[in-house]
Amino acid sequence: MGMKSSVLLLAACLLLTACGADSGKGSAPAPSPEAQQEQSSPGQMEKEKELNMNVNQDAASKEQMQNPSEPNEMQEAEQQPADPAPPGSEIASIQPQYHMNSVYRIVPNEESVPANTVLLTFDDGPKDEALIHRMIDILDKHDAKAIFFVNGYRVKANPELLRLIHERGQIIGNHSWDHIDLKKESPEVVRQQIVDVQNIVEETIGEKPKFFRPPFGSGGDAVKAIVEENGMLYMTWSNGSLDWESKYKNKPEAIIQNVLDQLHPGSNILMHELPWTADALDGLLTELEQQGYHFVHPESIELTIR
Ligand SMILES: [Zn+2]
Repeated sequence: MGMKSSVLLLAACLLLTACGADSGKGSAPAPSPEAQQEQSSPGQMEKEKELNMNVNQDAASKEQMQNPSEPNEMQEAEQQPADPAPPGSEIASIQPQYHMNSVYRIVPNEESVPANTVLLTFDDGPKDEALIHRMIDILDKHDAKAIFFVNGYRVKANPELLRLIHERGQIIGNHSWDHIDLKKESPEVVRQQIVDVQNIVEETIGEKPKFFRPPFGSGGDAVKAIVEENGMLYMTWSNGSLDWESKYKNKPEAIIQNVLDQLHPGSNILMHELPWTADALDGLLTELEQQGYHFVHPESIELTIR
């Protein structure tokens, strides 16, 4: 009897510890994608796939239990009230299932991983709290994660908006400090434009971006080398929504059509933090789902182009 109670208590403690272990921001560094290129195990991505697609795969039911922590950590977990785990800490457990090819499309690593996927990206923020909430509400409705490619000068003006995007579980990318054409700049300027954003993002949310997109898609080999130096995946896009063109201002239906016209498996969709893009977003994501696409989790993409 006493034995049984002890076992139950131990099990409860382990559960608490498992939750508590997630709550330390940055305590578990993301595993290196290169180290984990073998067949990845189903985790959160599998749940997303189930929600978003009709996949006839048998792996979904395999749930992995986390390894129980050290006994002395259990006591800590009991003493401290459990904080809700920040969204970033869940992401660290996602295994690479995709990579990016030389034309910036998302390609599955294995045949068993669905190819009908799109990467959602929003550039040029953070600008507006209400707009960010509106966009992330829609992403949440569709269980979608996107990369928000931010400019350093905007982060400096509105650090709380960067925190908002991060705390709502979306992914931050580096889009240079000043939104200038990096191809025209010296390596020293390029490095500063990139590193300063890495630093302000880290100071603000506790982690550096892993993805980089040059303003105007204008980079070249010199910029790519500096991006690589900083451990990021360089990308432009493969499907432009054209939401930045004045003729599509306030025309959400046309923006949806632009994306659908260019739709291909692995589409890397360029959008912006703009009100008419937010207006288009629910309709776009619904249509993509109806066409059998799901939304790739950015953290499931390897950080090296191949
Ligand atoms: Zn931009």
